[in-house]
Formats: sequence, C-alpha cells, structure tokens
Amino acid sequence: MTIGQILRQKRDGGELSGEEIRFFIRGVVDGSVKDYQAAAWLMAVYLRGMNRRETHDLTLAMRDSGGRIDLSDLPARPSLDKHSTGGVGDKTTLVVVPILAAAGVPMLKMSGRGLGHSGGTVDKLEAIPGFRTELPIEAAKNQVRSIGAALIGQSADLAPADKILYGLRDVTATIESLPLIASSIMSKKLAAGADRILLDVKAGRGAFMKTRAQAEELARLLIDLGNEAGVPTSAVLSSMDEPLGRAVGNALEVEEAVRLLVDTTDAEPAFLSFCQELAAHGLIATGRAESSAEAKAKVDRLLSSGEAAQKFAEISAAQGGPDNCEAILKNLPRAPITHAIRAPHSGMLTALDAEAVGWLAMRMGAGRQSKADIIDPAVGILLHHKSGDKVTSGSPLATLHVRAADAGAATEFADALFAACRIDPEPGARTEPFWTAFLE
Ligand code: URA
Repeated sequence: MTIGQILRQKRDGGELSGEEIRFFIRGVVDGSVKDYQAAAWLMAVYLRGMNRRETHDLTLAMRDSGGRIDLSDLPARPSLDKHSTGGVGDKTTLVVVPILAAAGVPMLKMSGRGLGHSGGTVDKLEAIPGFRTELPIEAAKNQVRSIGAALIGQSADLAPADKILYGLRDVTATIESLPLIASSIMSKKLAAGADRILLDVKAGRGAFMKTRAQAEELARLLIDLGNEAGVPTSAVLSSMDEPLGRAVGNALEVEEAVRLLVDTTDAEPAFLSFCQELAAHGLIATGRAESSAEAKAKVDRLLSSGEAAQKFAEISAAQGGPDNCEAILKNLPRAPITHAIRAPHSGMLTALDAEAVGWLAMRMGAGRQSKADIIDPAVGILLHHKSGDKVTSGSPLATLHVRAADAGAATEFADALFAACRIDPEPGARTEPFWTAFLE
C-alpha cells in the first residue's frame, strides 16, 4: 500500500478500505504523508465523496489518532457532551451546561474559539476576568467529580489528525464536504469520552449549513456515526438566520447568558426556550427524565430555584473566575464607547442577517479573521429588536459597543448594521420565525 495508490484510488472515484484509511491517517499524524499529499487527498474526497462505511472508518481513524479521554470512572454516569455546529450569538453552552450539571449530569465540555463570523465558547468564557479554559484533562475530570462540570478548550492531544486536516481544508477550499465535516466533528466528540452526545446543528444564513435540508443531512450523518461508534447520539436542528438572543460579542454574550440563569423574566424568548429545550433533551438522553414534560418541569425548577445560576458560579470559581453571578456581571469588561443605532424609518423588522451581524462583530474586534488575531472581549452588538418586531423611526435598533481605536468608525459600523437589517414599511414577508426540530 502506498500513499500514491490511495490518492489515485480516491481521485478516480474508488472506495478506500478501512485499512487504507487508517494507514493514511497514521501517515498524516506521523508526517509520512506530506501536506501536499494530504491536500490532494482532501480535494479528491471533496470531489468524489465517501460512502457511509468510508466515513465511519475515517471518523474512527481520526478519533484514534491521539489520546482519548476515559470518563468511565466518573460517578453519576451517564455523562453527556454537547456540541454546536456554530453560529452568531450562540452562548447556549453557558446556560445549558450549568442546568444539566445542576441536575447531576456530569459534563466535561470542550469548546473551540471563534473564527470568521461565528463565535466560540472559549472566547466568551475568557471574557470573565480570571476564568481559565486551559485546564489539564485530569484537573478537568477532578472538577467534574467535585462540582459536576468543567468548561475547557479543546485538548491538543485529542484527534490530532483533525487539527492537521482542518488546517489544510481551511486553505484548500475543502471545508464544505459532508464526510470531512462529519468525521472532523465526531472524531473529536468520540475521543472526548462522554457516554451520550447531544448535537445542536444550526441551519441558515449565520450557520455552516445554509439550508435546513443540508443541516438535516449532516445531523443524520453525525447521529449515525455516534451511534455506530457505540455512543447514543441525538440532535436538535435549529434556525440561525438571525443571531441567537440579543447579544453578539464575548462579554455581552456572557452577560446575556448569566442574566438568563439568574432570572429568566427578561430573557429573549427564543433564546430562553431553545436553552430549555436543549437542556430537556439532555435530561432525557441521560435518563434523568422520562418524558419531555417531566424534563421541561425539571429545567424550569433548576432555573427558578437559582441552582443553575449557582452551578455556573461554582464552575467560574473553580476555574479562576468570580464565585457569584453578581460579581461575574460586575467584573465583565466594558467597551469605552457605545453608539445607539436608530431605526431610519418606521415599519416591521423583517430580516436581521446573522452572517452580516457576525462579520460586523468580527470587524469591531469581537472575532478573528485569522487564528493569530487578538480579540477584544468587551466589544460587540446588543440587538434591541428581532425580526417580526415593529420599530418606529428614531427608536433604538441596536447598541454598538466599540473599542477606543474605532471611535472614528461609527458610521461604517452603523452602515454595516443597517445593511444587515430589513425594515419594511408594510408588514411583509419576514425571516421564518425561530424553529427547532429534534432528531434521533
Ligand atoms: N466543525 C468542525 O469541528 N469541523 C468541521 O469540519 C466543521 C465544523
């Protein structure tokens, strides 16, 4: 077996055996497969695809390309992992993990950083002064044993083949391939060792998958890969046409999530119900509730009793941040400049383009264009209206939280926000209201 044969076979549309795939992935990690060969292989897979069996073998080969976390010695199993395919304003992990941990579900949750228009949970957590996300796995496991959850960055030792291949995909126009996306996500999830996996697959303008049909196809593949690897896996599909909740930007999103945990009264309704729904599925998936009514009641109780907020504070304290929600909120960094953006005319807000808002937040400094960029945790956008809302001329549409260096960019940022919004004088066709669907 040679690398050249494997490349030719995929280039010509052939099927690779499990042995060939494992040989190739081993070579990617030990360096015997050169970057240019891996890039050629990625393009061949992108163009020729992979069947289900090949995708399964690729996922397991990537899972086994580095260390695997053993969570079998955790008390109170089954444990759960949650994964979002990413979007704009997606601070769901900050709400759902403490709810589930407060219900006794052990969660060692690894998250990524934001790139391009979409945010990352690690960046959001690091907006909390003192919060450390780079915990060694053993320390994170001990934290899960003592308080039920840890929120940390992706361990470099897990699925190293994915790190190499993802880096190459990013620069060779081979990201948008179903077998490559699915094996990338599931290899990391399976190596992370949880007993159950709950996926949050987004569809729409701000998501990786632009249509519901594409998102459903990806979700089905992810679920099958998880189940075939022996880890019961389910997914919630949801729309990402407009940002989730009201805040986009790291500290602003932490604030929105913590305020929801402390008191749901003023929470943005779609964001609140989405967090409740995900948490309820997590309870059912781990056998902590029998029915959706029971699960929802439990989630509501954990929120209204303050137990979920208290759990978030415990996680924060264990990882170096403040030990209560009030102090977390008080100590979040604030941008020096705020600009109110006002509706140019009255009408109905019929669209609020998540992708455009995400790019604006990135340009304001909340995200990175390339991995080396330094972000500003304080900057971002607070949306005062969501699509379907009536707005009157001159009323606040959004507040921009801007760094001092961008004091002169207010008009440019405001124009970008106006371009993301559509305000129709007459109520007309609007973005489809927020929707979800459960798949298992
Ligand atoms: N997220 C991942 O981890 N991998 C992909 O390929 C796409 C999204």
